[in-house]
Amino acid sequence: MPLMRSWVAGANAPDCDFPLNNLPYGVFSTDGAQPRCGVAIGDSVLDLRAAEAAGLLPLAGGPYFPAPAWNALMAAGPETWAALRADLIRLLSDGAAQAEQVRPYLVPLSAVRMHMPFTVAEYTDFYASKNHAFNVGTMFRGPENALPPNWLHIPIGYNGRASSVVVSGTDVRRPWGQLKGPNDPAPRFAPSQRFDIELEFGAIVGQPSTAGRPVTVAEAEAMIFGYVLLNDWSARDIQAWEYQPLGPFQAKATATTISPWIVTAAALEPFRTPTPAREKELLPYLAEARPGLYDIALEVGLTPEGGTETVISRTNYREMYYSAAQQLAHHTTSGCAMRVGDLLGSGTISGPEKDARGSLLELSWGGKEPFTLEGGATRSFIDDNDTLNLRGAARGDGYRIGFGECAGKVLPALADPYAR
Ligand code: MN
Repeated sequence: MPLMRSWVAGANAPDCDFPLNNLPYGVFSTDGAQPRCGVAIGDSVLDLRAAEAAGLLPLAGGPYFPAPAWNALMAAGPETWAALRADLIRLLSDGAAQAEQVRPYLVPLSAVRMHMPFTVAEYTDFYASKNHAFNVGTMFRGPENALPPNWLHIPIGYNGRASSVVVSGTDVRRPWGQLKGPNDPAPRFAPSQRFDIELEFGAIVGQPSTAGRPVTVAEAEAMIFGYVLLNDWSARDIQAWEYQPLGPFQAKATATTISPWIVTAAALEPFRTPTPAREKELLPYLAEARPGLYDIALEVGLTPEGGTETVISRTNYREMYYSAAQQLAHHTTSGCAMRVGDLLGSGTISGPEKDARGSLLELSWGGKEPFTLEGGATRSFIDDNDTLNLRGAARGDGYRIGFGECAGKVLPALADPYAR
């Protein structure tokens, strides 16, 4: 698909994250004003609360934008999702009849502060990149036991905490936790020394499912409203001690950062790409009717306090073994009901090459092989006051579908977390 041209400044530039083809949804505020829903276009955000109030978005069943969250629009369903996208394309295309009526509701991107784009109902995180699972399994259990026997059959996941999800730009405090190294006689309670990121892709469930009724992969795909970048901050030392037999718990509960713009499934449609060849035939309920992944280039930048950024990893969402729709379908096999606003983390995305690993744990091979930053400093895990930033974009012919930034700065642990 070629670039769709817009009359809004900046939207037709080849390196713009937000051309008309994209139209990602967020929640923004300007100085002192209430947060409200908006769509990014070029160098601007279109204020959808104001545009809707002015009668420019006469969607059936509306209004959808009195509240500063996308849940109401998601709940309205795929026909309304398509109608909104069609209305926005009509209003923002080159030569749009109503351009002069829309223009007063554009706000410069440089003037906005971004907020959580939706209310997270529940949060589930998966473990679905084979390179990542093999790398971590090798470090935790040795290469012969690296991939658990279920891995090639089940999209493995665990139920996380919606309360831990924060928007890009939110500082993250290094956690305290129970730590025990392999040679320590007993555990101790201390700040995590092996605090890490996980480069992930988040799928947002826009339609509910019924308790007791599993959904197919095709039904699951139609339930997904859009995607964000997701950093599943992870305390590896807490994880290594706590994770057996029930999986990660406090190691993953400090924070999960998402990018502020929901890139819709509709915008990503031209970038579909298949899951890899199956090493074991999957059970029929996991069969895909069409390519389930997207070709999205991803990278991670690390910036020390006062320093310059080093890109420490470059990979792609097409490296996954299971798609978001397969994960969502599997999630309902028990009869578990999904809700509008559920967030599914893809699992850490690692490519086969060393510089395509999506966590510091893998990049430094468990701390045994520290890597070097611009300027000569080294890292095995995150230092205090480092900022980690995930970026991603699908690349079309003369345009890109960008996700914006998914950034967080790691603050030092509290001196005494129980001080009152
Ligand atoms: Mn994760």
